[in-house]
Amino acid sequence: MTKPSSPPSADLSYQAIATVLNSLDALVYVADMDTHELIFFNDYGRKAWGSPDAGKCWQVLQNDQGGPCSFCTNPQLVDEHGEPTGPLVWEFQNTANQRWYQCRDQAIRWIDGRLVRMEIATDITERKHMEQALTEAKSRAERLAYTDELTGLNNRRAFFALATQSIHQSIRAGDPVALIMFDLDHFKQVNDRWGHASGDTVLRGLAATALRTVRDADILARLGGEEFAVLLPATNLAQARYLAQRLQAAFSSQVFAVTDGAVSCTASFGITADAGPDIVLDALLKQADKALFRAKEAGRNQVASRH
Ligand code: GH3
Ligand code: MG
Ligand code: MG
Repeated sequence: MTKPSSPPSADLSYQAIATVLNSLDALVYVADMDTHELIFFNDYGRKAWGSPDAGKCWQVLQNDQGGPCSFCTNPQLVDEHGEPTGPLVWEFQNTANQRWYQCRDQAIRWIDGRLVRMEIATDITERKHMEQALTEAKSRAERLAYTDELTGLNNRRAFFALATQSIHQSIRAGDPVALIMFDLDHFKQVNDRWGHASGDTVLRGLAATALRTVRDADILARLGGEEFAVLLPATNLAQARYLAQRLQAAFSSQVFAVTDGAVSCTASFGITADAGPDIVLDALLKQADKALFRAKEAGRNQVASRH
């Protein structure tokens, strides 16, 4: 790379400008827009990417490029007549050192009249990492806010959000919607006899069984205590009864090893279904709850329906 030729009288000003550019805490380079040959490369760039005597920007600044970079911004720096359009600011992770840069790219007329690309790039890696950590923390917090701690299922809040959304989709598609509510039978006795920790084991185990049994589109949640709900999109009452019976059978055949013994626990199920443009989650929950009450009254470990 050669220093741009300048008359001897300009040497001092050239040195002054070069001193400023070489002292900047940012990469500054200039490259020919056609050939991609580097014309100017400041000290910051030499320190970070080596000290190339010559080379094309894509060879010096990036890793394993077989030609001009696919992400080269040159086409965006000129208008349809090939005239400079002003600075373009963008953020980019460098392929050679993996650090993030805010790049200000601009097409300018070089001292010999040709069009060149000038880039000023500042390292924003720390800020990017902080942004990424913040985004991750936010999604972790959101996940926790929607997850039941004991079972890992959707919690009540998630159920209302997801079920409302799913009902709207079913209404738009003209599909029926069904809801199953279930409550573990005599669960207080499980706690009383085997202890609260064993009760937790049973709750977790039955929740996992329920999750394995429902379909992907179904929305299963622990509403609270030992009460659960499943919203079933595109499902009629007969299909909901079939799924509730499968859950009932799976629960009643499951035995959990706890300290000093083995525990099993059945559940009672209330199901309901509705179709048409006026399906409302609260109404479905009320109906399913009434059906669940009937299942309890009728002796537990059974499915009752209401619609
Ligand atoms: P029923 O068949 O009428 O539903 O009787 P039940 O004993 O299941 O109903 P009840 O509502 O009287 O008792 C529910 C019990 O569930 C009481 C409560 O301590 C227990 N429970 C609620 N949440 C938890 C929990 O997170 N862990 C444990 N181990 N027990 C819980
Ligand atoms: Mg109960
Ligand atoms: Mg209960």
